[in-house]
Amino acid sequence: MKHEQAYYDEIKQKFADERDLRLKLRPEGTSQFTSDLSGDLGKYAEDPYVTKISERAPINDSVEVLFIGGGFSALLTSARLRERGIESVRIVERGSDVGGTWYWNRYPGVACDVVSYDYLPLLDELDYVPKHHYSRGDEILNHCKAIAKKYNLYDLAVFQTTVISTTWLEDEKTWCLKTDRGDTMKAKFVICANGTLSKPKLARIDGIESYQGHSFHTSRWDYDYTGQDLSNLNDKVVGIIGTGATAVQAVPALGQQSKELYIFQRTPSSIDIRDDWQTDQAWANSLLPGWQTERRNKAIRRSQPTEQQLHERRKYTQAEKIQHQENNNIDYMMRIHRRIDKEVDDPVVADALKPWYMFMCKRPCFHNEYLATYNRQNVHLVDTHGEGITQITAQGPVFKDQQFKLDLLIFATGFEVQKTGIYNKIIGKGGLDLEHKYSNGIRTLFGIHSVDYPNLFIMGGYQASFQFNLTYMLQTQGDHIADCIAHTRENGFDMIEPHEEAEQWWVQEVIDHRGKTTRNEDCTPGYYNFEGESQRRQDGNYNGGITRYLDHMESSRADMTKHYRFS
Ligand SMILES: Cc1cc2nc3c(=O)[nH]c(=O)nc-3n(C[C@H](O)[C@H](O)[C@H](O)COP(=O)(O)OP(=O)(O)OC[C@H]3O[C@@H](n4cnc5c(N)ncnc54)[C@H](O)[C@@H]3O)c2cc1C
Repeated sequence: MKHEQAYYDEIKQKFADERDLRLKLRPEGTSQFTSDLSGDLGKYAEDPYVTKISERAPINDSVEVLFIGGGFSALLTSARLRERGIESVRIVERGSDVGGTWYWNRYPGVACDVVSYDYLPLLDELDYVPKHHYSRGDEILNHCKAIAKKYNLYDLAVFQTTVISTTWLEDEKTWCLKTDRGDTMKAKFVICANGTLSKPKLARIDGIESYQGHSFHTSRWDYDYTGQDLSNLNDKVVGIIGTGATAVQAVPALGQQSKELYIFQRTPSSIDIRDDWQTDQAWANSLLPGWQTERRNKAIRRSQPTEQQLHERRKYTQAEKIQHQENNNIDYMMRIHRRIDKEVDDPVVADALKPWYMFMCKRPCFHNEYLATYNRQNVHLVDTHGEGITQITAQGPVFKDQQFKLDLLIFATGFEVQKTGIYNKIIGKGGLDLEHKYSNGIRTLFGIHSVDYPNLFIMGGYQASFQFNLTYMLQTQGDHIADCIAHTRENGFDMIEPHEEAEQWWVQEVIDHRGKTTRNEDCTPGYYNFEGESQRRQDGNYNGGITRYLDHMESSRADMTKHYRFS
């Protein structure tokens, strides 16, 4: 249906009002959360998936390449290093196995939100076709383990170990890493593969430590308490704080099994249809070697505008183009609203579940049962309309003087986002702490290299390109890093470090591309826009598009000495 511009303007105004309301209620920005899970909060970070920490003597040795973290970043880059004949590769991982995100997140319903044939990396290399259009978490974890086996990554891997400092030794031209297990490991090349969403965070809520019932963070699911099939919850009153991507996947199973379920919402997610199916075996059998690479390349080519489209676009001013995009975005969000009205019986609940912001302001979600779960008699939405829960007592959360008495409180409050050096202090040349270097804004080349941190590579950090399919972006970084390391070794150098001019150029590119629209400021607060801290110009992702990002990395490799200093 065609609408007058006034219709779109009115909805845009409502988006702005809802954003302003949230900014007023929560002016603290990112500091409304804490990821310092120590002291009374320490239990929220413990690993529930192992029963004991394996004893071992401290390690004092040296490897060529060391990965901090054992998720997809480490796995897919290791594969490329192996292909280039690099043998001495170690993964140091806080968890008890590889997998990263998929090791830690085992909550009921966990699955990827990107089509599995695109999301799971190295399908060509492992000759594997995922079982569903969207893979479940256990399949993804198994895929991670299969990659580690294929590339012999278990040989040198060290688990249940957290890197706490990474220091450049100028005399030895090497990195020295200390861990929480008393290890001192040296490595010529270090890759920070510590994850974009791997350190759990909690909302700072008054009285959170005083809660006497059972509780955990969704990335530390306590199946001993809930039972594998959640049937222990049949006689329990359960609450979940947060309605982001994790809660959307976990709520349907919780709704089915809990005696009563309270869902505490601050801002609703956008929930679209999940077009899932079992992989057609005949199709899988017909795939030729190299099919995934070809599929990914095709997707990138498809996302490029044709000459004809570019010609059409040139006819419009920038303001007209933005208006056109916004109107399409609003049409999409109103379809999401209509779906809610269709799925949710109670019109008051349906209204409360409607997201009032542009698509992609918050992480979009896809689920076929989440909305209908609110039709169950035992499921109750507690809509805090932007405020969030601000008080917890020994019995449970309080909202507007109503006390919710719970047996179990689940925190679906997410993670610290895209931080380099979590749990870890990175000290480069001249004793420079990376945190200190970044204190006036992040400074990198491609989000990967940083001046004064030679032979150190960062994966999944800010100033890299944004991609909804993150593993594709990580694979391009892994390919780039493997090429840089191979080039350094093969030319007899000890060190690679970006030139200052190259770093300055990239910081400016990031700022220029972020400044093209007011999108970040216009969005409702969330982790995509630092909870509304819009002044952080260079501390986000590179918004010039993945193709341009790839082209830039490729041209830097074609002219290595222009971008990097070798010695
Ligand atoms: C619930 C959930 C669902 C997701 N779904 C999708 C999706 O559908 N599509 C998508 O593209 N992306 C998704 N993501 C993003 C996902 O994180 C990435 O796709 C990808 O798995 C990241 O891989 P990684 O190796 O960079 O980081 P991670 O998988 O997070 O691995 C990093 C590892 O580093 C370890 N570590 C950190 N610091 C240290 C240290 N100092 N010492 C030792 N070890 C350390 C951590 O324990 C962690 O295991 C999802 C994320 C979450 C949390």
